[in-house]
Amino acid sequence: MTGKTHLACGIFIGSSLSIYYGEDVFTSFTIISLCGVSSLVPDICHFKSNLGKKLFPISFIIRLIFGHRTFTHSLLFLFLIYWGLNSISAPEPYLVSILLGMLSHIVLDMLTPRGVKLFYPLDVSVKLPIVFKTGGAVDLSLSSAFSIVTIILWWKDIYRLFI
Ligand SMILES: [Zn+2]
Repeated sequence: MTGKTHLACGIFIGSSLSIYYGEDVFTSFTIISLCGVSSLVPDICHFKSNLGKKLFPISFIIRLIFGHRTFTHSLLFLFLIYWGLNSISAPEPYLVSILLGMLSHIVLDMLTPRGVKLFYPLDVSVKLPIVFKTGGAVDLSLSSAFSIVTIILWWKDIYRLFI
């Protein structure tokens, strides 16, 4: 999936989480931001991705060591992030936002023909039964759908945050 679709999905999940946790404006903004950024993090292994370009040469080195859609798209990577956040006692809403943002990325990439190495270091590509071409009509439709639902969520939730 494209970076736009990953980001739209991350912001949608973050918006849902901010409503679920029902915190103040600052916390809601932080949850949405963390989830949005986290939804792009697994593509740190792709030095031509939005995040990869900003973090070059780190992204290039990660790509050289692990390859694309391997370690950073695996359950092992998610567990290490969880372990790291847990060890610094990250507040639950932030921890959940980061993990779900990254998980959404992995699940969306499982909708592409290439799949992901979910069980890295095992060399097994995992993809869902239905797959779509990255950048195709379904990709664009998904990103539009996530954006529209997010706007509806914000519209319905704006009263709680500001009034
Ligand atoms: Zn990816």
